[in-house]
Amino acid sequence: RKTELAKLKEMPTIASDGARVELAANIGQTVDVVKAIENGAEGIGLFRTEFLYMGRDSFPSEAEQTESYKYVLESMKGKPVVIRTMDIGGDKELPYLELPKESNPFLGLRALRFCLTREDLFRTQLRALLRASRYGNLKIMFPMIAVLSELREAKRLLEEERSKLVAEGVEIAENIEVGMMIEVPAAAIAADLFAKEVDFFSIGTNDLIQYTMAADRMNDTVSYLYQPCHPVILRLVRMVIRAAEAEGKWVGMCGEMAGDPNAVPLLLGLGLHEFSMSAGSILATRELIGQLSQAEWAKIAEEAILMQTQEEVIQHVQEHVKGAK
Ligand code: PEP
Ligand code: MG
Repeated sequence: RKTELAKLKEMPTIASDGARVELAANIGQTVDVVKAIENGAEGIGLFRTEFLYMGRDSFPSEAEQTESYKYVLESMKGKPVVIRTMDIGGDKELPYLELPKESNPFLGLRALRFCLTREDLFRTQLRALLRASRYGNLKIMFPMIAVLSELREAKRLLEEERSKLVAEGVEIAENIEVGMMIEVPAAAIAADLFAKEVDFFSIGTNDLIQYTMAADRMNDTVSYLYQPCHPVILRLVRMVIRAAEAEGKWVGMCGEMAGDPNAVPLLLGLGLHEFSMSAGSILATRELIGQLSQAEWAKIAEEAILMQTQEEVIQHVQEHVKGAK
């Protein structure tokens, strides 16, 4: 079975009715890019850059970061690489950074919220990204955005650093797409507004589910609420995809849900364009999508969205997936 899947390594991802989607890998360390390529990733859908800041005793310099981004971009040889600006805070702490003690860190100073209070660190990362951009197909993504002003401020800082580098004579890629994660319900609900101001969305379901259900993703006592296939989550996903489509923008997903075999057929049906997951899930997902007709799953997903519980949805999916018991 492993050798059967290996045959899919160099293949594009095509549904049985010819619909094309893209399967990408999530990475944390730069070396993870090797595993992504070995597993047939068509791109990197999420590079969690906070890992560059962890396991050391000071902030990585602009030059160090540039090297890391360059390595990943070059390794992917022109395939898309979505690099997310640092997502520090929440559960991710740095030994050399004192953050305020918060009673709800996941609702606190995290990710872009933190970056906007530490512009110095954020600008350094943005400069490193811009410097590395000419080595591949870079897309920059901002995490944890709730309101438009955060996106606008992040984009303003990016443009400022771009102008400075250009003035210094640094070569920067021309068409760097700039996108955002949809992982706060407020952003999902206002996706129509955000879609006018970004090039793409990537839905971060790990957090989107946590915040929608008000259930800590690390807390076992409320894990029963953590339901990727719950119709409420599907409604949000559909809302985001429709909002992006209306503006001609593409939508990916980089939460665990993107590689969940119960969710994949529904996401295909809802029109998700890019699925980003741990490298080990890519080939099996490519095989699964090859057996599914997008047009057929568009109808099944609409039925699922009208259901009341995740159990009903999963049963509905399994009844329709070929070869399901
Ligand atoms: C997510 O929230 O779904 C996501 C991909 O980001 P992270 O898991 O790094 O919070
Ligand atoms: Mg997240």
